Amino acid sequence: MFSGAIARVDGNPDSGETVEVRASDGALLALAAYSPHSQIRARVWTWDDREIDASFFVRRIEDAASARTALALDEAGDAMRLVHGESDGLPGVVADRYGDTAVVQILSAGAERWRDAIADALCSVPGIECVWERSDADVRELEGLKPRTGLLRGAALKPEHIIHEHGLRFRVEIDAGHKTGFYLDQRDNRLLLRKLSRGKDVLDCFSYTGGFAINALQGGAASVLAIDSSELALASARANAKLNGLPEAELLEADVFQSLRRLRDQARTFDVIVLDPPKFAPTAAHAEKASRAYKDINLLALKMLRPGGFLMTFSCSGGVSADLFQKIVAGAALDAAADVRIERWMHAAADHPVALNFPEGEYLKGLLCRVAG
Ligand code: SAH
Repeated sequence: MFSGAIARVDGNPDSGETVEVRASDGALLALAAYSPHSQIRARVWTWDDREIDASFFVRRIEDAASARTALALDEAGDAMRLVHGESDGLPGVVADRYGDTAVVQILSAGAERWRDAIADALCSVPGIECVWERSDADVRELEGLKPRTGLLRGAALKPEHIIHEHGLRFRVEIDAGHKTGFYLDQRDNRLLLRKLSRGKDVLDCFSYTGGFAINALQGGAASVLAIDSSELALASARANAKLNGLPEAELLEADVFQSLRRLRDQARTFDVIVLDPPKFAPTAAHAEKASRAYKDINLLALKMLRPGGFLMTFSCSGGVSADLFQKIVAGAALDAAADVRIERWMHAAADHPVALNFPEGEYLKGLLCRVAG
């Protein structure tokens, strides 16, 4: 609930305190967590008239876990998103599972107040022995919260984990990696790349620890070039290739915008190009600048694709809608004079659900495009 939608606050609730949200006629609408420092002044825990206590968090986390079990998500491996914030009924709480460890991000004042209950509830998920906190995301600042990281529950302190994803192994550093350590949302799209890669020359832009590149190698790519600006991420990509007994990809520590220009100037061409950039537009206010950046890289990539080649292009920007993203890629194709078809729309994996009343939860959108042969 945005601050502008609130006519009056009775009393002086603490940061994170549970408050009743009432309509102008006094009818109870919801129980919510109060965030005095944020534009989002109240985050709804429940629309029902029930108490918010430790057992509420146990029930919500159990329910999130049973949805994943029902979808047999563990068949893909031992790493998955256990709690996807608002969409699992727990605004401000993200928890990813890496084997026996849950890595949690506590991102709102309400979640902060219930940190212990949330950590305990995560421990009650079968197979979870350890809870590690990675509450160092920028959004905490908007809630007036300081960064916090470290072990919350369990004894084993193992910041490095080896996870399994669709038969491949990846090293995840839960204390130093991005977000909670790994981009679980791209799991199924990485598998899709694997299927497209046999005998192909593949370019993986914004490769991080090599998620896409390793899948291309596993799929029998003739060559893989992976580009990322982070030396640490590329070191992990190298380790991940070795871990799977795969040949090393060609790794380039560089800025993708500049590298794509250089590759174009060298007249390099590829059969498959992956573009998985970071969030260019966190909110709609950044949409225009972000659109230019997306168009730039998509245009360059389309120009370097051979006939019959595939472009796997993504946006994880909340501020760029799926519709706008498709228009940007269409504009890039037009400028590249490329005859392009969308073969598939791609999304985050099913452990990243989207609540119908929170469509913003659908942040990752991807297009699998094919240039006419
Ligand atoms: N595809 C990856 C996730 C990509 S995350 C996976 O499947 O795991 C985005 C990556 O882009 C990060 O690793 C970050 O280091 C990198 N990055 C951000 N800006 C960049 C730039 N301008 N040039 C190159 N890499 C960049």
